[in-house]
Amino acid sequence: GPGPVALLGPAPGAPSCPHGPALLFAKTSQGKEEGRRFYACSACRDRKDCNFFQWEDEKVSETRLAAREEYNRNHQPPFTHKQNVDRYKNFVLLPLSKRRFCQECQQLLLPAEWEKHSDHQFLCDITTAQLKSPSQLLYPLENKKTNAQYLFADRSCQFLLNLLIDLGFRRVLSVGTPRLHEMIQSKASQEEEFSIRSLLLDIDFRYSQFYTEDEFCHYNMFNHHFFGGEAARETCRKFLYEENGERVIMVTDPPFGGLVEALASSFKKLMAMWKETEKEGHDNNEMPMFWIFPYFFESRILDFFPSFSMVDYQVDYDNHALYKHGKTGRRQSPVRIFTNLTPSMIVLPEEEGYRFCAVCERYVSSGNEHCEICNSCTSKDGRRWKHCVLCKKCVKPSWFHCNNCNCCTLQKHSCEKTDVGCFVCGKAGHKRSACPSVS
Ligand code: SAH
Ligand code: ZN
Ligand code: ZN
Ligand code: ZN
Ligand code: ZN
Repeated sequence: GPGPVALLGPAPGAPSCPHGPALLFAKTSQGKEEGRRFYACSACRDRKDCNFFQWEDEKVSETRLAAREEYNRNHQPPFTHKQNVDRYKNFVLLPLSKRRFCQECQQLLLPAEWEKHSDHQFLCDITTAQLKSPSQLLYPLENKKTNAQYLFADRSCQFLLNLLIDLGFRRVLSVGTPRLHEMIQSKASQEEEFSIRSLLLDIDFRYSQFYTEDEFCHYNMFNHHFFGGEAARETCRKFLYEENGERVIMVTDPPFGGLVEALASSFKKLMAMWKETEKEGHDNNEMPMFWIFPYFFESRILDFFPSFSMVDYQVDYDNHALYKHGKTGRRQSPVRIFTNLTPSMIVLPEEEGYRFCAVCERYVSSGNEHCEICNSCTSKDGRRWKHCVLCKKCVKPSWFHCNNCNCCTLQKHSCEKTDVGCFVCGKAGHKRSACPSVS
């Protein structure tokens, strides 16, 4: 099969596929770049979803360029966002009995369109409440490689929102967090004194059926591409402008597929956008951010954002087979919050077992005991870790010290070393398939 592939990042003048500018990659062998570099789709890791491919040094004929442009145009959604907004306005005027949603096309239907979808499954009597919870109405996309949508469990979503309120934020840039966006939107429409606003940036265009162009931008977070062009970019810029002292935070929950550097590059561009909006300048501050991601990506995230730290809170999901019932089930969610806010400000619920460590000055999991030697609460996964005097650090309870490898690792491992860092945790000594963080 193909060897490991390294992302070289977004490149100026990169060709585009239907998902915006492609990213530059290189095949690698033994940690070294090898052979020709190539462009591939930024959003789809599965060739079946987008088979865009071009060698970096490839000469592309005018004819092929024209064909590609036409292909890209033809692979945009059937309706524009503006059209979808108009359709929605008409839809809400319909009596309940005429409000249908086609489950196959994932589309709100107007009566004139029923005929065309007559042999499709549909839902009837779509209520206003349903329109306000599109994440319940739409099927979560399930493509493992490209776009698996894992929706927050209500408890976690509520926790996040309360935290944002307590921290005094008034605006939330929701990047790939439709359920958080939805919770904010529906509270804002129901409770008068609730004054938080949210802008959703997501690649899932189905959401444009439910939100105006000031509430949703069709966006690709792997290449910072706004499908709506300059107008959409401007919507985002305006949103980030902190009028009347309304503080902004960005919350993102990207797919875990890898490409951390592509995400980091886009998030830095969003941060830069925020910085540019403020006339007086934000001094040396960064836009506050919550990046929700598995704990075993900690070192990768910190490589790109040294000001970030990991919060012990376990984020739970509704539709993830493994991470479902975090507190009650057998499995604990590995998903955490990474943030550039001061850790002591992130108050975690004591009723769920979190406690405050006065030495570390942050809330930690109940099982995360303060290690006197490390002088820190060292557990990453919530279980109690043990200190290894040889490694001079705390390690997972299931690890032991291997004198061959000269470090702590799983009992079952082969001592042969690889010089390339692991794709998941970045550490040397093992490959992704044997990463102890994942197993
Ligand atoms: N837990 C979140 C959903 C996270 S799932 C919630 O409940 O709100 C990942 C989200 O990122 C999905 O909404 C998905 O549509 C979006 N996404 C996936 N790939 C993307 C891309 N390339 N650009 C922007 N958003 C993307
Ligand atoms: Zn249909
Ligand atoms: Zn501690
Ligand atoms: Zn050890
Ligand atoms: Zn690893």
